[in-house]
Amino acid sequence: MTIEDKKDEFSGIEKLMAVIENSEKHYDAEKIERAYLYAKALHEGQFRVSGEPYISHPIAVAEIVTSLGLDTDSICAAFLHDTVEDCPDKTNLDIIKNKFGEEVSLLVDGLTKMKAINVEDKEEANMENIRKMLLAMSKDIRVIFIKLCDRLHNMRTLGVKAEHKRRATALETMHVYAPLAHRLGMQRMKQELENLALSYLDPIGYAEVSTDIEKKYGLNQNFIENTRQYVSEKLEEYNINFSLEGRVKTVYSIYRKMFKQNKSFDEIYDFYAIRIIVDTELECYTALGIIHELFKSIPGRFKDYISTPKPNMYQSLHTTVIGRDGIPFEVQIRTREMHHIAEYGIAAHWKYKSGAKSKEDIDKKLSWIAKLIDTEDGAIDSEDFMHALKIDIFSDETFVFTPKGDVIALPQNSTLIDFAYAIHSQIGNRMVGAKINGMIAPIDRVPQTGEIVEIITSANAKGPSRDWLKIVKTSEARAKIRQWFKKEKRAENIKIGQAEIDRVISGYRVKPTEAQKTEIIYCAARKLGMADSEDLFNAVGYNGIAMTKVTSKLKGEYERIVKPEEQVLITDTDQVQTQKNKKIRSNSGIIVDGEYGCEVKFAKCCNPLPGDHIIGFITKGYGISIHKHDCPNVKAGLENPEYRERWAHTEWDTDSMTAAELSKTLYEVVLQIYAENDIMLLANITAALADMKVSLLSINTKKRTESEIIISLTVGCKNIDHYNSIMSRLKSINHVHSITRGFS
Ligand code: MN
Repeated sequence: MTIEDKKDEFSGIEKLMAVIENSEKHYDAEKIERAYLYAKALHEGQFRVSGEPYISHPIAVAEIVTSLGLDTDSICAAFLHDTVEDCPDKTNLDIIKNKFGEEVSLLVDGLTKMKAINVEDKEEANMENIRKMLLAMSKDIRVIFIKLCDRLHNMRTLGVKAEHKRRATALETMHVYAPLAHRLGMQRMKQELENLALSYLDPIGYAEVSTDIEKKYGLNQNFIENTRQYVSEKLEEYNINFSLEGRVKTVYSIYRKMFKQNKSFDEIYDFYAIRIIVDTELECYTALGIIHELFKSIPGRFKDYISTPKPNMYQSLHTTVIGRDGIPFEVQIRTREMHHIAEYGIAAHWKYKSGAKSKEDIDKKLSWIAKLIDTEDGAIDSEDFMHALKIDIFSDETFVFTPKGDVIALPQNSTLIDFAYAIHSQIGNRMVGAKINGMIAPIDRVPQTGEIVEIITSANAKGPSRDWLKIVKTSEARAKIRQWFKKEKRAENIKIGQAEIDRVISGYRVKPTEAQKTEIIYCAARKLGMADSEDLFNAVGYNGIAMTKVTSKLKGEYERIVKPEEQVLITDTDQVQTQKNKKIRSNSGIIVDGEYGCEVKFAKCCNPLPGDHIIGFITKGYGISIHKHDCPNVKAGLENPEYRERWAHTEWDTDSMTAAELSKTLYEVVLQIYAENDIMLLANITAALADMKVSLLSINTKKRTESEIIISLTVGCKNIDHYNSIMSRLKSINHVHSITRGFS
């Protein structure tokens, strides 16, 4: 039975209440009825475009929510989901909280906020941001489930809306909500949303495929039924407890296959499918053996998602065989538990653990993943079902709206200035103020996900302030601000830069004469690639050059021109030592050809760690790129005579950096873990990393062979010793075969 079929199962509130009262789940029927009556009173006098009383919509949404197996609070929220927005003079979140408790009011709040998101007619590029934002916004995943039910009912009744509205809603459904349903593993929901959306977006294509299906299905009307019969008889002989269903592929999935893979209708093998549901995993394989005995299988179409589940937890055996009359069909075999997960997604899989409500830290997130993977006890406890499942998947990003409804993704803790520059440098440069959700806000405020941010600009704006460079969090904004100062404020930059350099030189032990000073600055400027001293002042003024680079060059010229060592022969040795230590302290922690404080960057191809044997490559304009000595790129580069001049001797500046400084810096390291494909593997790896307090920056898995997978991890590493300890811990995990560093 599909959700489509369930439409007719209920006919309004009486039927729904009967289902709730007779359910094995422990619903609070009194509370649900109260929510219904309250919503009914609030929507009194409101009508849908179709002319029906408005309350018919919340009832339908509550029905779908119930059919998905969600809890009492979710059903109440389904009844109330449109009230705060549509009846602002009669109710608000506080009243709902008083009447139905905090959980319901939080769900309604989440749903109301989502309603405010206008994602219609946005470009595809923005869609992924919107999907992420919807997930990030609904801290409680039940909000998404209810929202999907709301959308499903709106799609079912979309026909009465105006054409442009239909198209916009259908596009949004196809690009945002169907993928969300898919991501949550809700196949029925996804299929129905896609079919409905397609029927509005390409009515002709939809009709064409539907007709083809009808023709084919008409011709072989009894094919599925006959096949079912035949397979059933055989399975019964083996004493397997099973249920068997047949299906014809959805219109949208055939449409997509035909148009995206350029296939003809006849080339679609899985048009017909039967699904065998058994009790145990062992019986799955027994049933598979029986099927392959009865029918000839099509090579290359067998997939074992039981031993290798899909990322959304889907487990099943798939095979395609040739039925009688030469008609190919797909067979899916799975256990009841696997089937439940396939149909209802992770919703079916969650069991509430008390205490999970506190703010999630990384350990909690990891244990959440681990719990999802743990299939040991798949039985659903209706009391705890789906209770307070919180998600915080995209906590490293903030999603903010422009007044037009575009979504801008910013790194966490970005300010309104970052937002302005993310839209356009001209918006940033002319920014004089900002509003969050219509209220004036200080420009250094950090906006929250879901807020609408408006930047107030003025043609007479004086431009960015130098203080902004200290406030902004994104390098993009910083670069744009510097760019502005470089262009617009040369005179001022020169003044600031000159003062800064004067300050540096005045700190020298032996004061240079004015003439010497001029020479020092000019020579340093030339060596830094500038035309003259003024250019250097300008660059320093707008922060266009790293001060460490400037001070190191100035010091070099100072020592060459003034020769302070010869002038002061009698010095306290301690003082010399202090001076020396000061000199060699550098930010990068790298010494290049004996020089400190050079601008360096760490190569992404090999991600060197303190302690690794390294070599530097002088790039054109981007400082010195530090590679591991055994990096394959280095090997190739060293053989190239063109580059001979550009290799620099580099070493780690471990002496001058204190242990504290070193341990603060994290270096990215990529690891490839080759392992047997085991269900607990990912959970064990992430748990081990969390235990060692290693920050996990990315994780990807791919299949290598039937039984082996490769997991690519990027982790934050302090140095080579830290790296070695991470490696030995990971190697000790069950099923791990080997680990290599770098990209495979
Ligand atoms: Mn609604």
